[in-house]
Amino acid sequence: MDIDLMRLFATRRPYGAERNRIRFFRAMKRKTLYFIKRSPEYRAICDDAGFSLRSLKSAGDLRKLPVIPTLYFKRNHAGIRRGPAILVTSSGTGGSVSRIRYTAGELCLLAAMAANLGRVHRLFSLRPVHYIMLGYQPVRENKAVISKTAYLSTWYAPGLDRAYALEYRRGRNGSGGGYRLNLEGILDKLVSFSSGRNPIRIVGFPSYTYFLLRKMKEERISCKLPAGSRVMLGGGWKQFAGDEISKGELYSLIREVLGVGEDHVHEFFGAAEHPVLYCSCRNHHFHIPAYADVLIRDVKTLKVLPKGRAGLVNLMTPIGSDLPLMSVMTDDIGVLYEGKDCGCGIESPYLKLLGRTGVKGVKTCAAGAAEYWRQAE
Ligand SMILES: [Zn+2]
Repeated sequence: MDIDLMRLFATRRPYGAERNRIRFFRAMKRKTLYFIKRSPEYRAICDDAGFSLRSLKSAGDLRKLPVIPTLYFKRNHAGIRRGPAILVTSSGTGGSVSRIRYTAGELCLLAAMAANLGRVHRLFSLRPVHYIMLGYQPVRENKAVISKTAYLSTWYAPGLDRAYALEYRRGRNGSGGGYRLNLEGILDKLVSFSSGRNPIRIVGFPSYTYFLLRKMKEERISCKLPAGSRVMLGGGWKQFAGDEISKGELYSLIREVLGVGEDHVHEFFGAAEHPVLYCSCRNHHFHIPAYADVLIRDVKTLKVLPKGRAGLVNLMTPIGSDLPLMSVMTDDIGVLYEGKDCGCGIESPYLKLLGRTGVKGVKTCAAGAAEYWRQAE
């Protein structure tokens, strides 16, 4: 495996270290060569874009890499046919699916990344906690990456138990099961755990957390969670456009109904086609970690925009040996800001997500899950 890639993902300084920027560039260049050699489809994409590896002389040249839309990964397979064996898919509930495989070595690097970020953002705790998972219970039948990401975030503290809002019920004779929303069960558990001594960690989509808390507020249920409890949000705010609320509103609801302060609310961002984890800082901003780079491009011309301007989010990372994930175009709209504008002390720039462009027919796993909640209301 590439030594720069290994050192990059094993770094104990995930933000603002100059030597990581050099490692990032070298690893990106090497991975591009890897795909040009092995994937005829990627080679064709490069030829078509008039891209040559010789044009990559410094980190600033990485913007010249062919940008592949996430939709492409959902429809095609430009990867290595006899690829590594561990499969992760996105959007498991209807809609198009990206299938991305990682080697055991790559999964170790992703685990090192999650561990280092957890250490820097102080997510680790040795105290056993109760997990309230506001999402799908992971089962073999549902390979949606979001449930795995949620499951991963329960590694930061030992779990006494895990209660899932969307429970999987197997059908008779073990076939044809499905998900069922168990909101009452979740509420009961939350109330009973809150009188105990162990902290509670609520893990889920921001929209679900909002719905749960709003229901609790309507029914005048409020509980003071034990000290050290946390709320960990991930998976996007975009799915409930009609009910969109500001982050500030959600934080005050969390404080009001659960007694959990803003400093114990954490947000995460990631995508199946870009397996880098972004953890919010104390000011709730997503600073770009060493494993990735982000460019903002003009919606029409795809030209790279300066900081402070809104456009399409282009995510870059050298991890992945099955599909060329080096430069991926999402359908998210975002803005980049200088790290120092945040004030938290992290030097690398931060990304603010504003929403999603209207791509019809793209159903995310969060949107699929949302239907269960709508039916339940
Ligand atoms: Zn910050």
